Amino acid sequence: MQGLMQHHPLTLTHFFDRAENLFPAKEVATATASGRDRVTYGEWADRTRRLGGVLDTLGITADGRVGTFAWNTARHLELYFAAPCSGRVLHTLNIRLFPEQLTYIVNHAEDEVIFVDRSLTKLLWPLLDTFKTVRHVVVMDDGAGDQPADAGAGRELHDYEELLAAASPVGFEVDDEDRAASMCYTSGTTGNPKGVVYSHRSTWLHTLAVMTADSLAASERDVILPVVPMFHANAWGLAHAGVAAGASLVMPGPDLSPRAIAELIESERVTVAAGVPTIWMGVLGELDGRDTSSLRAIPCGGSAVPKALSEAYRAKTGMPILQAWGMTETSPVASVGHIKSTLADRSDEELADLRSAIGLPMVGVEARVVDPENLEPVAHDGEASGELQVRGPWIAREYYDDERSPQSFTADGWLKTGDVASVDGEGYMRIVDRTKDVVKSGGEWISTVELENELMGHPKVAEAAVIGVPHPKWGERPLACVVPKAGQDLTKEELLDFLEGKVAKWWLPDDVVFIEEVPKTSVGKFSKKDLRARFEGYQLPTA
Ligand code: ADP
Repeated sequence: MQGLMQHHPLTLTHFFDRAENLFPAKEVATATASGRDRVTYGEWADRTRRLGGVLDTLGITADGRVGTFAWNTARHLELYFAAPCSGRVLHTLNIRLFPEQLTYIVNHAEDEVIFVDRSLTKLLWPLLDTFKTVRHVVVMDDGAGDQPADAGAGRELHDYEELLAAASPVGFEVDDEDRAASMCYTSGTTGNPKGVVYSHRSTWLHTLAVMTADSLAASERDVILPVVPMFHANAWGLAHAGVAAGASLVMPGPDLSPRAIAELIESERVTVAAGVPTIWMGVLGELDGRDTSSLRAIPCGGSAVPKALSEAYRAKTGMPILQAWGMTETSPVASVGHIKSTLADRSDEELADLRSAIGLPMVGVEARVVDPENLEPVAHDGEASGELQVRGPWIAREYYDDERSPQSFTADGWLKTGDVASVDGEGYMRIVDRTKDVVKSGGEWISTVELENELMGHPKVAEAAVIGVPHPKWGERPLACVVPKAGQDLTKEELLDFLEGKVAKWWLPDDVVFIEEVPKTSVGKFSKKDLRARFEGYQLPTA
């Protein structure tokens, strides 16, 4: 027997319609170079419909790729909906990619138009001639940077507000839920970035999942500050969820300094503020004397959240960080670190430890931790580790037009995440390392994530990253690269003593070097690749 319910397509026009019809007075605030712009969802919806008209006027094809090179702003949110709701495909360009990677992804996706914040034109202009398919460049005046005179041969230059003022609003209709809504490329730590193509359906389901109470619980009552860029894995679903729920949104614009973020949280009475760990490490020092009582969640992921960081937030704001895990390929949110009610009576120390795990797969996502060779599940004892693999309706099934796809998916349809994880008897998963970062010492694995976690628990340590360095006897041994807090004297011996008893003896780093800063990737993660390059040929002391 078949169910007899309507088969209504899961398309983004539904979220757009809700914001337009039900929450026209709610606001999206954007921090700009000169202050704060505010637009209501009513105004935003009208502008978004006009933007749909602009895409028609520019002659963007029916499923043309619409590139954005922009900060988190209300205008970027207009593009987030105008492109997919008019049938086009939003392509968010990571402004911090290497120039040759940007050229690659624009050409690979065949972007027809790029919308760029004026403050970012200086990064984009030198590359324009390398873009083969871009016919229009639209500058969004954000009050900073120079206004270019033209966009070079074969490309038309436009002003966003002028186009909008001249355009007529259009109706939005998308019937096919499997149609592509947007795309985002991984940041490509090895080789060229790989394209992930989200459908309306996958985005719809991911958005609802982000709204569930046991994940980020985005609701109409929230004031959401996505510090995580809209060009990085869909701002973790918060831009879509904000619109769908009718939440107030606070867009940080270009100034992501700790002070600016702390100031936004306080003055806009933000309830949910989401960003990678390096953001929250910075903001921590700006919280003294500020009223952050509006906050109800600080979702954080993208790389391991040090236990000490989460505990520092608990001490300062009364609220620990909410760890989540995901990837560009998983839309991105796939697991969230809430503590089960049945575990709430554990000691503070045990709870802090649990929060340093990535939590439970969120509803809709299946996860398994397996031996990557034979796909046998590892024991759920919190000790055994294997590859984390996931599947579900918002997990990629292949990369866009990429012959590397088969390497990343199993024959039975799971995404191989490249993350090494363990899982305990309660189902809590813990990232041990990325496969390529784990230190392979004498055939055994040493988790750099865990070592870093412990090192960053030292009161004099600001940042710590651990890499594997070749070793004649053991193959590889850990080298700790440590950034002391300003004005603090720290010695190798002090740190090794501190680690003693916290990790297995054979895990202790063979050496500690003090550096000024851990290099970061385009999305603010510790760049192990750059660290490895910096310490290539490093001679470990012989014992
Ligand atoms: P990139 O692959 O370019 O870094 P992604 O943002 O897609 O881009 O990165 C996904 C990866 O980030 C995951 O595979 C994992 O290694 C890491 N990651 C994400 N969240 C966490 C977390 N909470 N703890 C540890 N690692 C994480």
